[in-house]
Amino acid sequence: MKPTLVLVGRPNVGKSTLFNRLTRSRDAIVADIPGLTRDRHYGHGRLGDKPYLVVDTGGFEPMVKEGILHEMAKQTRQAVDEADRVLFIVDGRTGLAPHDKVIAEQLRKTGREIILVVNKAEGMASSVVTAEFHELGLGEPCAISAAHGDNVNELVELALADFPLPQEEEKEDRHPKIAIVGRPNVGKSTLVNTLLGEERVIAFDQPGTTRDSIYIDFHRNGRPYTLIDTAGLRRRGKVFETVEKFSVVKTLQSVEDANVVVLVLDAGNEISDQDAHIAGFILETGRALVVAVNKWDGLDNYQRDTIKNDIARKLAFLLNFAKLHYISALRGSGMKGLLPSIDAAYAAAMANLSTPKLTRALLAAVEKQQPPRAGLSRPKLRYAHQGGSNPPLIVIHGSALDKVPETYQRYLENTFRETFRLEGTPLRVVFRSGR
Ligand code: GDP
Ligand code: GDP
Repeated sequence: MKPTLVLVGRPNVGKSTLFNRLTRSRDAIVADIPGLTRDRHYGHGRLGDKPYLVVDTGGFEPMVKEGILHEMAKQTRQAVDEADRVLFIVDGRTGLAPHDKVIAEQLRKTGREIILVVNKAEGMASSVVTAEFHELGLGEPCAISAAHGDNVNELVELALADFPLPQEEEKEDRHPKIAIVGRPNVGKSTLVNTLLGEERVIAFDQPGTTRDSIYIDFHRNGRPYTLIDTAGLRRRGKVFETVEKFSVVKTLQSVEDANVVVLVLDAGNEISDQDAHIAGFILETGRALVVAVNKWDGLDNYQRDTIKNDIARKLAFLLNFAKLHYISALRGSGMKGLLPSIDAAYAAAMANLSTPKLTRALLAAVEKQQPPRAGLSRPKLRYAHQGGSNPPLIVIHGSALDKVPETYQRYLENTFRETFRLEGTPLRVVFRSGR
């Protein structure tokens, strides 16, 4: 699984500035998707060949005992407990604050690996700006400027030093690895139990900390599948029990680790920001996706229409590729099509598209509708090849391709999707201009 870096620190030290810098590379990919609301608190990044996840905990109010701030502090603590590296940010301009000491004390108790980051250090000698922070007893501080980018790569390198490069999956091991995600109480655990049925006995506990994930292998119709735990399912006796209700870090990690994601929504409730954020995150990873609209039982037609409209409005950005299933995990109804959709989404995500076939589809699309002229020149699209899978990446070669408008890019995307029946997976089309 990808290493997770969790940012903590008091307000205004520069956490969100650092977060933006650490996740910026990915922003470009999804920036232009209409209707996509993004949560600025978690995201992906990459340094060289090493991918990582970043969680910005927002504030840290260790002294507050109740109310919303207390809830936030609980969330922060959970994220810290699940972090691979905690980046504790302090402000090199205002200097050491009493609040920093309190946070440092709390962090030390968690036993996590902590990197002390002194931000806003641009234009200052690192030894000078970090000097007073040694007092926190968290080792050698790392001076950066999040705003200017100074030393940020070095910081990430340090944070990721102990993590190996991700390994390519073995060829013969290829089958759907499914993450079932959604906000608390939508019915994830119920769905897992219903999906597994009698086969739940195959599940195994991995000993160790809460960080360890559970992989549940099962077969259906002679095909292998793996479920990746997100709901914090643990086997207790003969049934699964939810021991932790919801974990952002685990949700993110399991989405990353999966090749197909089942997003579970609760039909009895409005689509919330949290639903939309999880959906946005899935889209950002490019994973194949099936949507399960759960608790379909007991709703009247009006309620069903309401939720359908709500989904169409708030999750529009998923609907051009993801298949929806209306189910009752509790009663086991509407479930028949779910695994076939997972199979189809997996197949689409992993499809091998040959250069001749892609090029033929491309040229046919161009013949039907030319890209618009830009100034004196018209973009010339010559051929296409596949540059990756999960999601399929289609690279188009030609000239003056930087002039191709986004609408035309969408047109090509839709053409490829239809031609190769790529249902259930996002698709990425990029342009490479020759001379
Ligand atoms: P957060 O509350 O910890 O998320 O802090 P923000 O990222 O919102 O930053 C708080 C303020 O510090 C903003 O005005 C930022 O522009 C500023 N800031 C962030 N990083 C730097 C930095 O590296 N140098 C300087 N001079 N200012 C910074
Ligand atoms: P999780 O937090 O997403 O894992 O949700 P759970 O599986 O624990 O379910 C939360 C609650 O919703 C439980 O009380 C379930 O019995 C209930 N629930 C789950 N699926 C359904 C369903 O299809 N219909 C109805 N009516 N209730 C359901």
